[in-house]
Amino acid sequence: MSYKNHVIGTKNELLTSGFSGSANNPTPTRTNHYGLDFIAGCDSQITTLGVDIIALADGTVKSVTFDNLKGWTVVLSHAGNITTHYQHLRKGLPVKERNIVKKTQVIGVMGNTGDCRSTRKDVKPEFLGTHLHFGVQENGKWVDPEPYLTGEKTIGGQSDELDILNRIAWAEARGEDDKGIILVVNVIMNRVKSPGFPNNIRDVVFAPKQFEPVSNGAYDRATPDQRIKNVVKRALDGEDYSQGTLFFRTIKGADGGWHETALARLFEHGAHRFYTTRTTQAAPKPSQTTASTGKIEKGNKVKVTKAINYDNGKPFRLWYDVYEVIEVKGDRIVIGVNGVVTAPIDRKHLTKL
Ligand SMILES: [Zn+2]
Repeated sequence: MSYKNHVIGTKNELLTSGFSGSANNPTPTRTNHYGLDFIAGCDSQITTLGVDIIALADGTVKSVTFDNLKGWTVVLSHAGNITTHYQHLRKGLPVKERNIVKKTQVIGVMGNTGDCRSTRKDVKPEFLGTHLHFGVQENGKWVDPEPYLTGEKTIGGQSDELDILNRIAWAEARGEDDKGIILVVNVIMNRVKSPGFPNNIRDVVFAPKQFEPVSNGAYDRATPDQRIKNVVKRALDGEDYSQGTLFFRTIKGADGGWHETALARLFEHGAHRFYTTRTTQAAPKPSQTTASTGKIEKGNKVKVTKAINYDNGKPFRLWYDVYEVIEVKGDRIVIGVNGVVTAPIDRKHLTKL
């Protein structure tokens, strides 16, 4: 069988077990096989050792997990609410959750982790059961993956998240040089990785009041050209000038704005000025950790003396010196910055300014 699209780096998938699922019965069982099993090689020479497993299409890494049945598993999400599932991979995967991957990028190595009993036995004992189980879901339901391999069905040219990046980069920085465009992407990816922001590109870009083109409609009208796409890709491939910056704004009109008062300046490039959070101060002295004297009310500016989430008791990371009170309910006080909620916190851990 020769395919148009591949999930095996050597491009010679050898099918050992076919798809026997049905969309009406979405629970995988031993008798229904919700994917395709492949080994690599041809009938006379099976070469499973060290075979790369590659992404079927552009996408983002949705999850990297281990369980006793599937073994090490990478799930990629693609445009059109399609996910591809790569199971039984060898331990030690080269991708992490939220990574953006390109079609044919290596996402793992064929392995035999998890339950691999049912594969053919004509391989060397040390590779027994080594195979790839490959599954595809459309809108959360298992479907036969083969049409995606033959090219009968296609996955959109780019992932939704890559499209979002191209559009926001175009809207924010199309007039900038390459470095200026890369910096905008760096800021977004720094936020994705930072515990103080949402953990995916979509939610970072669409967070309220964060990116002006989203608020003013320029994002919706964006028409990213090939140059923007090429430069965005360079940023995703690791080009990074950001020094960890998490914020930027246009230099014009910056004076006296929130960025200037709440953040620390890092550097300027082109039309943009880049910022980081102010360094959290050293642990407060015991005398400062007592409750403030004045009653804390909505709209007050407060300092946090101990960052513990009121609802779940977990510590959270402080990015700012000063927060505003967004909501007060008894001792449960919701704080945030710039109208964006950070966390609920106990009144006793706040000092009114
Ligand atoms: Zn299987």
